[in-house]
Amino acid sequence: VTMEFTTCPECGELAQIRSHEALESTGGPFEHLRIICLNRHWFFLPESSLRSARQPVVAHDR
Ligand SMILES: [Zn+2]
Repeated sequence: VTMEFTTCPECGELAQIRSHEALESTGGPFEHLRIICLNRHWFFLPESSLRSARQPVVAHDR
């Protein structure tokens, strides 16, 4: 299993991608992501809305 990370749209903290879900739309299925950030913000949003914000993440001790 590969863990994927992105950035929380609300607080900018590291957010883990918990699942990918394909939703049907008039233009065909498109992928949604369920993410949770370090501050426990949950989001369920289209992958395309995050892709531009996705960036390499450097893991560090807290
Ligand atoms: Zn957050």
